[in-house]
Amino acid sequence: MAHEARIVSGVEVIPLCDAVGPMGSHIRKPLPEMFPRGSFADGEEWILHFHCYLLRAAGRTVLVDTGIGGAGSPAASWAPVPGRLFEELSAHGVAAADVDLVVLTHLHSDHASGSVTGDGPAFPNARYAVQRAELDWVRGPMRDQVVVPLGDSLQILDGTAELLPGITAVHSPGHTPGHQTVEVGDLALSGDVVLHPEQLRDPTITYVYDEDPELAVRSRVALLGRVAVLGTGHFADPFVPTGAPVSG
Ligand SMILES: [Zn+2]
Ligand SMILES: [Zn+2]
Repeated sequence: MAHEARIVSGVEVIPLCDAVGPMGSHIRKPLPEMFPRGSFADGEEWILHFHCYLLRAAGRTVLVDTGIGGAGSPAASWAPVPGRLFEELSAHGVAAADVDLVVLTHLHSDHASGSVTGDGPAFPNARYAVQRAELDWVRGPMRDQVVVPLGDSLQILDGTAELLPGITAVHSPGHTPGHQTVEVGDLALSGDVVLHPEQLRDPTITYVYDEDPELAVRSRVALLGRVAVLGTGHFADPFVPTGAPVSG
């Protein structure tokens, strides 16, 4: 599914729609259990989009998140694999070798599984920026099948860091300990700080799979006050306004 691109502060921000579909049955719950205090229609189903983002700025090619990965990925148990990331990239004229920087918002299987192919990095010329707190936390298949094969390609961040001029990774913990958003001007690629539109209506609505729901609320409130537009991980419309004042 093609979504429209934006240019923000001289950076082209292109949503890549890796997949669309509901969660697999073993982790799917009714929406009022996933987002307590959210308001939903009777029997409403959550159809997730799975978005990655391509950024182009000053001759550099940046990928934010790598999606659900191939047929055998750690996301295969619950997400609609295989993801379409590589078709989406090639539709924009981008080959894997062209990517200079991959930023992983967090190490859940639907955001980072496309990072590797075979037993090495899928983007051979890229550094992969991940927060140290995330690497310290991750276990199981995401560590063994994704983090370990990345090896020396990892760029370990300790908190907020400018990765390229005008492109900043901001530590936004709670959903996971080392979750980070990627911010360009007044726009944030928000990963899973905001999962569902109900959390824009009321940012104190938590998510059942948040590691630390109260910390996630604080990160969400801060984010929504800091930027004017989100590039979302899972909304149907990739770009949504936050209601925060727009600068410039
Ligand atoms: Zn989409
Ligand atoms: Zn997540």
